[in-house]
Amino acid sequence: MNQLPPVEVLFLWPLIVHLMLLFLIWFFYDLRKRGVEKKRVEGKIYRCSACNLVYVDNHDLPGTDCPRCGHYNEAVRR
Ligand SMILES: [Zn+2]
Repeated sequence: MNQLPPVEVLFLWPLIVHLMLLFLIWFFYDLRKRGVEKKRVEGKIYRCSACNLVYVDNHDLPGTDCPRCGHYNEAVRR
């Protein structure tokens, strides 16, 4: 005679599979978020007051020369 599957198979397996899926998605998005945050910390943003060029310099200086016209500019933020 055929037996019905136990309660563990009917209830626990779908639960475990869904939890694993949820953790995988969480892990994937957390890795992506870390990559974006790492990129964002690099450098300071400058806007040239002479030619309006916006550029990023990753040296920790209060100001740099514009790569296009050579005008000295101070960091916009950070
Ligand atoms: Zn410039």
